[in-house]
Amino acid sequence: MADNLKDHIVSVIGAGTMGNGITHVFAQYGYQVTMIDVSADALTRGLATISKNLDRMVAKEKISQQERNETLARIKTSTEIQTSVQDATLVVEAATENVDLKLKIFKGLSEFCKPDAILATNTSSISITKIASVTNHPDRVIGMHFMNPVPLMKLVEIIRGYSTSDTVTETVTALSKSLDKIPVTVNDYPGFVANRVLIPMINEAIIALWEGVAGVEEIDNVMKLGMAHPMGPLQLADFIGLDVVLAITRVLQDGYGQPKYAPCPLLVNMVQAGKLGVKSGEGFYAYTPGDKQLVVSPNFR
Ligand code: NAD
Repeated sequence: MADNLKDHIVSVIGAGTMGNGITHVFAQYGYQVTMIDVSADALTRGLATISKNLDRMVAKEKISQQERNETLARIKTSTEIQTSVQDATLVVEAATENVDLKLKIFKGLSEFCKPDAILATNTSSISITKIASVTNHPDRVIGMHFMNPVPLMKLVEIIRGYSTSDTVTETVTALSKSLDKIPVTVNDYPGFVANRVLIPMINEAIIALWEGVAGVEEIDNVMKLGMAHPMGPLQLADFIGLDVVLAITRVLQDGYGQPKYAPCPLLVNMVQAGKLGVKSGEGFYAYTPGDKQLVVSPNFR
């Protein structure tokens, strides 16, 4: 492990939505980062997103042009996981949310990384303890759950697996603070805290819609205007992706075995119909490229 915080060498696995954001913040706060992806195109897109987001920060005078250039200079990219993680003292995995894929990646990391490297995962819903179980050092595996968009959102939910050591938890807490984030430590149970509270709220909003209690806009307006949520639960579901919401609901249902976590049949139907929200162009709202106005989907008018 690095003696000083700033001596940490970071590898981020995955250059998608979360991976490029995590790479951005580590590089911005002075760490050398290698962003790794199986897809060279994903790396190109990830780096372009980081560049664009840094340019926006320069335009808003949040960072200087020099800080922008120095941030980009600290980032390397690679499609070769085995050779690229050898020097890392911290690996943050942000690859696609798939259990078998993550187990394979962590088995590899356990072989390729230094024995004292910290292996963190940004998973939204997979058990940290399960991921740790395929490594040689389960005490060094931890959840480091950044929120989307990473450069803007303050929270890092730090999840302690069953065997995660105090030292690793303390180091990851200090590293998160060094990125100007606010870490909150929780234990490893299905949904952790963020999704255990958020996802049932979204599911309940969908149940209220399905039962005809109120329409899409009414439900979202109650939560926006009455609870000061920046986005209503149905719009948020569209933003997260209804397939992702359903998958996390299933994790809660399987993990706790309680009827209260059963997904609303309307949510199941919408996923089966391919109405996944923003990414498919339609969910509770209909999305036209370039149009920022929020328009309720024809199905709910
Ligand atoms: P994404 O689909 O945008 O990106 C995933 C990337 O992983 C892709 O570029 C893909 O090419 C790459 N990848 C796949 N297999 C790989 C491998 N073996 N090695 C290296 N790279 C590989 O996904 P995302 O939304 O960035 O999510 C990444 C992780 O972050 C998931 O675990 C997800 O649950 C979690 N998460 C997502 C959000 C969110 O809002 N999107 C929020 C919090 C946490």
